[in-house]
Amino acid sequence: MSATPLAACFSPDYTSARARFRASALALGCTTEAWSIDQKGPDGEELTIDMAMLGDPQPKRAVVVSSGLHGVEGFFGSAVQVALLEETLGGFSPPPGLAIVFLHALNPFGFAWVRRVNEDNADLNRNMLRPDEQYVGAPDGYAELDALLNPTTPPPAFEAFLPRAGVQILRHGMPALKNAVAGGQYEFPKGLFFGGHGPSRTAQILDAKLPPLIGACERVLHVDFHTGLGKSGTYKVFVDHGWGSEGAQGLARTFGEEYVQPWEPEQGESYEIRGGLGTWCKARFPEVDYDVLCAEFGTKHVLKVIRALRDENRAWHHGRRDDARSIKATTALKETFAPRDPNWRHGCVEQGLRIVEQAIDALA
Ligand SMILES: [Zn+2]
Repeated sequence: MSATPLAACFSPDYTSARARFRASALALGCTTEAWSIDQKGPDGEELTIDMAMLGDPQPKRAVVVSSGLHGVEGFFGSAVQVALLEETLGGFSPPPGLAIVFLHALNPFGFAWVRRVNEDNADLNRNMLRPDEQYVGAPDGYAELDALLNPTTPPPAFEAFLPRAGVQILRHGMPALKNAVAGGQYEFPKGLFFGGHGPSRTAQILDAKLPPLIGACERVLHVDFHTGLGKSGTYKVFVDHGWGSEGAQGLARTFGEEYVQPWEPEQGESYEIRGGLGTWCKARFPEVDYDVLCAEFGTKHVLKVIRALRDENRAWHHGRRDDARSIKATTALKETFAPRDPNWRHGCVEQGLRIVEQAIDALA
């Protein structure tokens, strides 16, 4: 037997990930639904967000496990979901009142086309603004970095991005740079970290489909899987509570003090974001004690991540799809957010399973 069996839970592409997720969910006895986003994948395939539910059909408590809000990051999240369905949850029946809800590929377009963003170039963890918020503005400093981040020519054969980014860090400092580039912006539609001009199809679908499933719950713990932030092979769980608050402390008791971290700049690795899934869920379900745990698994150094995003975004908007440099940029993006290393894959899925098990234990 392989020393890294959980690496086998990864699928090579969106279509096979979706098929495996659906088959595993049905085999386990889940009820399932498929929600079309009315877009096609590279082979003309239909793109859907797939839902699977195990346990009480009218739950009072729910553990939600979602993947692929950031498209390409879905390779990992899907692997955790498949590992749960095929391995961990075999023979487990949730106690009365509890349901486990899986949301597979929240951004199926990005997953299928190997992009982090959706069909509108929108970053869906910046797109989920509350009804009282406007899709306008950009962090201080974004305009200054626009030319560096978002060149308007196809990728060249060679380019020294990292030294140029290093100069910006010396000038502005790393937290300022992270805030400027990753805080979410609504003014540069072809730029990185664009939050969209309005609610995405995914936001509309969640708005319509989630309330009948979990709207009557008292408590929801929602684990949303991501990759690309933090030290390689390790994770942090970002939560929508302030440092030292009761909410953060409660989640730290469940998920481990060393892992739980508020979304706040300059104390740790996170940055201030607008339009995140967590604040949207809290606003959408004011009657529910709803916590989204943004589980971030590290892959590469942040500057290498930004370089991969920049190259792919540039190739998408300004290169030809079949050009060798575009294909290289896509391959590099996939390697950045779903590294092939079986040790990384196995270790991260194993840790992802632990987070979901902690959530289930807390509500069971
Ligand atoms: Zn992400």
